[in-house]
Amino acid sequence: MEPIASSISKIYELEAKYGRPKGSVSLLAVSKKKPPEEIVKAASLGISHFGENYFQEAMEKIERLRELNLKWHFIGSIQSNKTREIAQSFDWIQSLDREKIAVKLNEHRGNTLSALNVCVQVNLSGEETKSGVPINQARELCELVEELPNLKLRGLMAIPAPQPDFQLQRKNFRKLLREFNALKTNHPSIDILSMGMSDDFEAAIAEGSTMVRLGTALFGARL
Ligand SMILES: *Cc1c(COP(=O)(O)O)cnc(C)c1O
Repeated sequence: MEPIASSISKIYELEAKYGRPKGSVSLLAVSKKKPPEEIVKAASLGISHFGENYFQEAMEKIERLRELNLKWHFIGSIQSNKTREIAQSFDWIQSLDREKIAVKLNEHRGNTLSALNVCVQVNLSGEETKSGVPINQARELCELVEELPNLKLRGLMAIPAPQPDFQLQRKNFRKLLREFNALKTNHPSIDILSMGMSDDFEAAIAEGSTMVRLGTALFGARL
């Protein structure tokens, strides 16, 4: 089967396998380093949410594909001198990990557009990677986002360090699920637990992911 169609049916299969309600896991197609033609093709198969990591590349695609009315998620590291364009061109930011960036995104989003959807990125792997807040600081950043009127707090995102062992993948994702559930009690707008990539999305779905972010599985290896 064609990789995009087979990934979509795999997600349905995993929802059933782990007792998740049908349709409870949405798909973000990670199109970084892939040409606009691939995005057009994925859109024709029904995908409407796309994730990009690199500012310049993303801006070109957004401009070029404007008439398709896609939803764009910024999932890369956010430079503070790019916050104006990011805030005005994207529908979602999944990689928020600094208070200063939250304040700037809020300012540049303004109140003429709908509120910018935000996930706070959590660093589950300690020292190994530098992006994301430590899990014990997620609450504080969520509280700040909640107070900014042009941002809408949607949930948490994480990119755990690659881990081949399925049970250890699950254990890591479970930590994020616990924090997500705890935050939801104070922040009713939270509904997105963005976890799971091509190599670990089964474990993520098993542990309650509501959005998997697939690149390689949909579009093949990136050069
Ligand atoms: C690249 C990337 C992905 C997709 O990774 P694959 O392993 O190709 O599925 C998902 N999330 C983030 C934040 C990424 O940077």
